[in-house]
Amino acid sequence: TLSDRLADTFKNLRGKGKLSEADIDATAREIRIALLEADVALPVVKEFVAAVKDRARGEEVSQALNPAQQIIKIVNEELVTILGGETRRLRYAKTGPTVIMLAGLQGAGKTTLAAKLALWLKDQGKTPILVAADLQRPNAVQQLQVNGERVGVPVFAPEAGNGVGNPVEVARSAIDEAKRKLHDVVIIDTAGRLGVDAELMKQAADIRDAVQPDEVLFVVDAMIGQDAVTTAQLFLDGVGYDGVVLTKLDGDARGGAALSIASITGRPVMFASAGEKMTDFDLFHPDRMASRILDMGDMLTLIEQAEKTFDQEESRKAAEKLVSTGDFTLDDFLKQMQQIRKLGSMSKIMGMLPGMGQFRDQLDNFDEREIDRIQAIIQSMTPAERDNPKMIDGSRRARIAKGSGRQVSDVNQLVDRFFEAKKMMQQMMRGGGGMPGMPGMP
Ligand code: GDP
Ligand code: MG
Repeated sequence: TLSDRLADTFKNLRGKGKLSEADIDATAREIRIALLEADVALPVVKEFVAAVKDRARGEEVSQALNPAQQIIKIVNEELVTILGGETRRLRYAKTGPTVIMLAGLQGAGKTTLAAKLALWLKDQGKTPILVAADLQRPNAVQQLQVNGERVGVPVFAPEAGNGVGNPVEVARSAIDEAKRKLHDVVIIDTAGRLGVDAELMKQAADIRDAVQPDEVLFVVDAMIGQDAVTTAQLFLDGVGYDGVVLTKLDGDARGGAALSIASITGRPVMFASAGEKMTDFDLFHPDRMASRILDMGDMLTLIEQAEKTFDQEESRKAAEKLVSTGDFTLDDFLKQMQQIRKLGSMSKIMGMLPGMGQFRDQLDNFDEREIDRIQAIIQSMTPAERDNPKMIDGSRRARIAKGSGRQVSDVNQLVDRFFEAKKMMQQMMRGGGGMPGMPGMP
């Protein structure tokens, strides 16, 4: 795996602690191989590796991680970013039913996915209806009906009077039906071909024009590897779509298709389908896919652990300083806040940070930008002010507010918060019992 190879690459690097150009090149080669093995398209690999090299050069050398870990962390973060960062949610129509149209090659998994998506929506209290607009394949309508029955969602199928043989008419009538029967989501299954052809594209585009979907989802089989990119591009040009659904992720494909498609089309992967069961379906999680592409979930866990340990060590040092000198400065305060941000996702271990208890309530919906604001304010202070916040009088507050682009009231609030945190920490110290839950504290 990539982690083994990188560990080899860096065998002699431990303790050296700095990434040289040669180290970065050697690493880039390994990453390139790993991505190609995961079936990522070559142009995407090249662009990606260049971005990683760039960032590796600019990065400060981490104290928490060894060089191999540090590079892997960069690679992982870049992967997650390209894969869409946060999972994108479905956009629902403001009025009337939300219309979701599926497009993709025959065998991609559209009909199966239609039912899975319907079940998923139904579980969230929606009242979806499935629409059989694939009139190409002999059994397509029946297949959707069977699937609809499995998930307990009604299927709108062509009958005399609503457009037998005409998928555009079927789709149009289905929307009327949805409005009449108060279905809030309409999922339109469409025909695919084995390969991309002009007639198929036109049909899909006609349906799209007729029903103006809120979301067009491109459904693609993760197993088709390199071909996925070409197909994705052709559908983007021919029909256009807002998001991508990867199917058959239960197979052994490493998921390079996800990266290639996201990178080349700029469309987010929204859902992942991984199995024959109707419940084998979920929102797409960029971070999970990134570790699958790299094939090294274990390494990522290790990295998380290493950073966590490092942070623990840092806060232990901060606490020790406080005990020995009774000192707690605005710089320490800022460091604390930055650690909260780092650890935000691991709110479980919050208890270990000195003075953090008071923030615990806010942690679940902690506003990331809040830390940026605090940082801006503190960085607008002089070193003397940070060391001795008592000296920050009215005119200094006005200057700091101006320098950081905030209001004086923001500066006041920050200074108040600081003194509260300090008081709290001193109380804990005086309590004599050391830090609650702080490993290694006297
Ligand atoms: P369509 O032609 O795009 O409508 O594709 P279908 O929904 O008919 O699926 C084609 C085949 O792939 C069927 O045999 C499905 O059972 C199978 N299939 C669909 N999704 C998945 C999946 O996530 N995992 C697996 N293993 N098979 C799937
Ligand atoms: Mg189908």
